[in-house]
Amino acid sequence: MNEKIVCLSKPEPSEPVSFRANIGLSGQTLEQLHKKGKQYGVENILPFRMNNIVVAQWVNLKCRYGCSQYMANWSCPPATPDLAEVKTIFSEYSTALLLVGNQNRNDFYKDSNRNRTDQVKYWKGTVSLERMLFLKGYDKAIGLVSGACSLCKKCAYPDACRFPMEKRPTVESFYIDLVGTLKNLGIDTKVALELHETFKYYSIILLD
Ligand code: SF4
Repeated sequence: MNEKIVCLSKPEPSEPVSFRANIGLSGQTLEQLHKKGKQYGVENILPFRMNNIVVAQWVNLKCRYGCSQYMANWSCPPATPDLAEVKTIFSEYSTALLLVGNQNRNDFYKDSNRNRTDQVKYWKGTVSLERMLFLKGYDKAIGLVSGACSLCKKCAYPDACRFPMEKRPTVESFYIDLVGTLKNLGIDTKVALELHETFKYYSIILLD
């Protein structure tokens, strides 16, 4: 990875960590995150500076037009913050983690039940890593997940969410131009055109 991926190194404290302890992100913590993430299909975790994130109004167009989850899911617009709020939120963070998962299945476009199972597993992984970070003193950590929430077969929107503790906004609902952001991070990504090609999941944890 290039220099835009950062690893903030400070030794792992042996004492209980206070919130806002300015502890950086040690190699040991990153390793623990990797280990836990693997259980959920998270193959890679990359720390990076927030100024690499690209936000754009056009991302919202893709939510409004051509996506069945618009105004139908609590993790998607318009239930999520608007662009001005997103910019304010992002200004309150300096570091984030990119979580990358792979999917390589010939039945990807045929077996929607299995897709949902995999998506839920990956979703839970993001929330679980966020929780782990919280317990390590990163009280600001919050996950932006990949794909609309699929915890329920059909989202309860506009009625109350059935699992509010697990509910998180999607990456795209935060106006993040994912391809532009990946380019900034020096990560090359391409459209999977053939069934045998690898499909990737990307989620983000805003860290500190
Ligand atoms: S947990 Fe269920 S009701 Fe809540 S956002 Fe997810 S799918 Fe919708």
